[in-house]
Parts: sequence; C-alpha cells; structure tokens
Amino acid sequence: MAEVLCAWCGALVGQSAAEHSHGICQPCYLRLRGLPDLTEAELDKLPFGVIVLSRDGIIRSYNRAEGELAGRVPRSVLGRNFFAEVAPCTSVQDFEGSFRAFCEGDEASRTFQFTFRFPAGPVRVQIVFLHKQVDVTVAIRKLP
Ligand SMILES: [Zn+2]
Repeated sequence: MAEVLCAWCGALVGQSAAEHSHGICQPCYLRLRGLPDLTEAELDKLPFGVIVLSRDGIIRSYNRAEGELAGRVPRSVLGRNFFAEVAPCTSVQDFEGSFRAFCEGDEASRTFQFTFRFPAGPVRVQIVFLHKQVDVTVAIRKLP
C-alpha cells in the first residue's frame, strides 16, 4: 500500500493500492470550493494555476501561476478557446470529455489527474473543476 498525499498541501489523506497516488484533504477541498468567489487579483496571488472557462471552452480568466506553468502570457490567451487553440493536448476524453460531462451534470466538483504535453516536456497535474455560475473554474496543481 502506498500513501495518498494531498496534491495541494502534502498532508496524508489515506492509503491506496495505486503507486504515487494523490488526493485532496478536507481543509484544502473547502478552500478550493471558495475559488470561484475570488477576484482576478486574488487568483494571481495563488501558488497554483486557475483558469475560468465558459462552457464552450473560451478562456475568461487565466492566473499568473498558470501562465508560469504553461509558459503563457495570461493576457494573450483571454478570449481564446482553451481546448482548440491554447492547450490542444487537453482536447481528449480525459480532459475535454470530462469537462463536458461536468458542465452537463450536477456534480459540485470533479477531480482527476492529467499530464499536460507542454513543449518543454510533460507535466503531471491534479485538476479540479468547480462551477462558477454558468462558467467553470479549473484549478491546476503540479504534482511532485
Ligand atoms: Zn491539503
């Protein structure tokens, strides 16, 4: 059995048969639930990536940490389609398909792990989807 660590703070959250498993501890989950209420200035102070997408994938907000992770200038991606133009590696069932299912379903949140195929190399992350009225807040935490 391997330890399951919180991807956001490193706290032990349980045990799993899977290797290198990550989850979210309760305090981090509660904090993440408040992300859709934060202003853009507040999002820019966070140490992890946050993107706000419309239901059709248009980038409405893109914070500083995500720009650093992805090597993008946040201002340059606003109004562009995340799946088709900005991060085509996410245009797969595991990410875009999950996003569509989340938009159409009634879950409060959805969490999964994903590997971004950046030009500089693959980056394993944990993703959390949260509803922000009709939009979706996407939190992105790089895994160790
Ligand atoms: Zn935590």
